[in-house]
Amino acid sequence: MEYDSLNPDDTYELAKKLGQQAKAGDVICLIGDLGVGKTLFSQGFARGVGIEEYVNSPTFTIVQEYEGTDDRRLKLYHFDVYRIEDSEEMEEVGFTDMIYGDGVSLIEWADMISDILPDKYTKVTIEKNLEKGFDYRKIVVTEIG
Ligand code: ADP
Ligand code: MG
Repeated sequence: MEYDSLNPDDTYELAKKLGQQAKAGDVICLIGDLGVGKTLFSQGFARGVGIEEYVNSPTFTIVQEYEGTDDRRLKLYHFDVYRIEDSEEMEEVGFTDMIYGDGVSLIEWADMISDILPDKYTKVTIEKNLEKGFDYRKIVVTEIG
């Protein structure tokens, strides 16, 4: 699926919808350059999952865990792997247990750990196109595996 996001709200609302549809065990991989809106997407997605806390990039912790407050009580594992040196660091924070666990995992910069991604995940790429304006983003959602 391909979406044209014309402003931050479009991205937030699309992500929120995907969060509302999320199920335990889902893994969402966010791919795109610095400043395209991965964290904003994560905030909308988290809202859809039922998270009421403020969600920010877990820059110094690799992963931040949240729990939804609606009936589903879904856990959300929000990763930002930008500063990862090698995949072993991911194991140290419990990556495998989390992605194969009973929560939903959302991974910013997932392309940096492509060697340890599961066989099945939802890939979300976000790209700018300055010809279409400063706030334009193309968002492509693909089911892998
Ligand atoms: P990333 O996590 O990819 O580095 P952020 O989500 O932190 O990016 O920042 C994205 C920035 O781009 C925000 O300041 C946001 O307001 C801005 N922005 C402008 N237009 C859009 C859009 N269509 N979708 C998402 N973010 C947008
Ligand atoms: Mg970010």
